[in-house]
Amino acid sequence: MVSVSYSPLDRVNASFGKALPIALRRVLESGRYILGEECERFEKNFAKFCGVNFCVGVGNGFDALKLILKSYLSLGKLKPRDYVVVPSNTFIATWLAVYEAGLLPLPAEPEENTFNLSARSLRRTLEKARERALRVGAVLTVHLYGKLSPMKSLRRVTDEFGLLLLEDAAQAHGAKTDGILAGALGDAAGFSFYPGKNLGALGDGGCITTNDEELARMARVLSNYGSKEKYKHDLLGVNSRLDEIQSAVLSVKLSTLEKDNQRRAEIASRYREKIQNPLIRLPEKEISGEHVWHIFPARSKFRDACRLHLMQCGIETLIHYPVPPYRQGAFRESFFQSIFAPFDFSLTDTLSKEEFSLPIFPQMNDEEIEAVISAANSFRVNSREEAL
Ligand SMILES: *Cc1c(COP(=O)(O)O)cnc(C)c1O
Repeated sequence: MVSVSYSPLDRVNASFGKALPIALRRVLESGRYILGEECERFEKNFAKFCGVNFCVGVGNGFDALKLILKSYLSLGKLKPRDYVVVPSNTFIATWLAVYEAGLLPLPAEPEENTFNLSARSLRRTLEKARERALRVGAVLTVHLYGKLSPMKSLRRVTDEFGLLLLEDAAQAHGAKTDGILAGALGDAAGFSFYPGKNLGALGDGGCITTNDEELARMARVLSNYGSKEKYKHDLLGVNSRLDEIQSAVLSVKLSTLEKDNQRRAEIASRYREKIQNPLIRLPEKEISGEHVWHIFPARSKFRDACRLHLMQCGIETLIHYPVPPYRQGAFRESFFQSIFAPFDFSLTDTLSKEEFSLPIFPQMNDEEIEAVISAANSFRVNSREEAL
């Protein structure tokens, strides 16, 4: 029996051959490990790749989002305790970044078929916020699972309400629409280079991309102890930097990102064509390039039984995400609950109960892909379960 791991990062990184050990050794021997040439080079490469003027390397994806928000606060474009609209079904990092910046998360439901915010849902949330006199300053949309949010229609709404439009692009490196890439579609974007992401380091890493020079400058200063000049600290900054080892690794891995994303798309379309089981609902067909398939989100009303069956067939699956942020203990305080109370998150709840993710990574071989397909196709439930 072929068994398929969900995300074997040893295989992912072995696919680069000697290039990674060579890069690691180069940094080791350079004697410079923080704020050096490797980071500068990667920032330049990644800015060019995304088609933006500025890229600021930071410690991780969470910091990227937090520093974008803190920078806008410092620049006076956001005010302390402003609300920031976030998707209700995202990974909790999006929400926590808002909170850590001294702002408040205001969740909006996704659209069922795309898992992403829609203009309609955003507008509904903003209108409700207006009725309750909540001061909203920005929308932080997430390109969840690697699929781009509908940025043009979201922009029409944020323009109408006078809000910043920010991207959580942690799952969407290289996703593009009309030739414009994630990271260049909003006022600013945060990326994560967590090892399992489509562009992953060998540890933590992240960056901010933007065409806003003032923002880029502010984020760089805040990420380095609020210092423009050594030992002169004009702002209450933090320490969040992309180190030389990670930068060198990322430069190597960036060179195959497009090809890797294409391979993910091929696997996704094979799944979509060949998995035919009425008990499993597959994601919609995609416009080429708009989805980079960080995650292949399937759904089933019989999720637990389905995952158990797949596991017995040797296929590892995960859930993204089993508990929505608004139900997490972290947000149990009555203040937060009173923000959430007027909204209906029933779709978010349904998705969190039905979603499960099939293995998808560029190094998957045909035998593994076929094993996933045949295991999915052989899933059945007995009539007693079906009646539930
Ligand atoms: C991974 C991820 C983050 C956080 O990235 P880290 O590098 O782990 O801090 C933020 N948002 C989303 C949607 C993510 O998937």
